[in-house]
Amino acid sequence: MHTEASKCVTSTKIHTSSLPITISGLTKTYGIVSALSDVELRIKSGEFMTLLGPSGSGKTTLLMALAGFIRPDRGSVKFGDEEVIMKAPHLRGVGMMFQNYALFPHMTVEANIAYPLKIRGEDRNTVKEKVGQVLETVQLAGYGSRRISELSGGQRQRIALARAIVFKPKILLMDEPLSALDKNLRELMQLELRTMHERLGMTTVLVTHDQREALTMSDRIAVLRNGKIAQVDTSEALYVAPQSEFVAAFMGESSFLTVEPKESGYFFRDQKLMTDSVAEPVASRHLLVLRPEQLEFIQGTERAHYNCFEGTVERILFQGESCLGHVRLASGELVQVRRNLRESNKSTLPKVGDQVIVGLHRNETRIVTGE
Ligand code: ADP
Ligand code: MG
Repeated sequence: MHTEASKCVTSTKIHTSSLPITISGLTKTYGIVSALSDVELRIKSGEFMTLLGPSGSGKTTLLMALAGFIRPDRGSVKFGDEEVIMKAPHLRGVGMMFQNYALFPHMTVEANIAYPLKIRGEDRNTVKEKVGQVLETVQLAGYGSRRISELSGGQRQRIALARAIVFKPKILLMDEPLSALDKNLRELMQLELRTMHERLGMTTVLVTHDQREALTMSDRIAVLRNGKIAQVDTSEALYVAPQSEFVAAFMGESSFLTVEPKESGYFFRDQKLMTDSVAEPVASRHLLVLRPEQLEFIQGTERAHYNCFEGTVERILFQGESCLGHVRLASGELVQVRRNLRESNKSTLPKVGDQVIVGLHRNETRIVTGE
């Protein structure tokens, strides 16, 4: 592991102000591809918003439209009350950080960080002072005269961050900034970026395809799919209350049972489900979400508050801290049940071939819309 990553960004205060971002009707097509389709999104002042979605869902296009590198076909982007859609990127005052750092490798750390200040016409002394301050913020004081090519991946990432924030932008945009780092360093940098955001308070928009990264870092997450926003919510709400099959599947491992809405409630085959969940009534399909960590093996006497499904254990996979049971329901579907091995007595784990009852607590029973 890289040792520099174990230090946290210092508590040196840099005060920045922030601005809300209002995106409306934003549309961008490339030939027949709809990269963004009528996107509406309000990002609060000082909020950490993550754009999450699979590859090709339009995340980069949306971020580039905020930065000004892409001119959308139509729609509006406001920073505060100001419409910026026609404004050149360098006049928008946003800080930016990308996956490939985009640092100048032959130049020193100092020269790289000074660049945005110089193009803003700041005088030499001010530049020196601000570069010194921001190097302290990212825990690399004393590295000013090194060349970029002499730094590790984590150090380069911090320099890229320093350069993005040195002019105290009110808005910080980051496109997969950590995806080139290995897992340990990536998780540390996630924490550091989050800490820094809490301290500096600028409005931050992060692009990632990594749902765990999104859950860890964000105040809210906008899930994108095919250039449209599928759902915007807090991390917790997205996880516990996804509205669609797509979001439920993207936010964790889930299996789904097709259910039927009737006047008296939702039914799985002949079984009426206990749930407070109400899905979009006009959807073509309704699905019950089954998350391995929400399912339990139920004894007959505990059934009152659970929706129960009978099945046979097909497989038990040992996965370290937990076990994953594959259960074939009597109705034919395969579902997965996760059991934490520290909490559960190993001797009570069912064995392959056992008849079991799988239970989902009524409060965790979610119906979502399918395709
Ligand atoms: P993401 O960042 O979520 O992976 P992008 O915003 O890069 O997605 O791309 C969204 C869609 O737009 C994709 O289908 C992509 O192929 C297409 N696209 C993006 N940029 C261009 C371009 N310059 N020319 C043609 N198609 C593009
Ligand atoms: Mg992208």
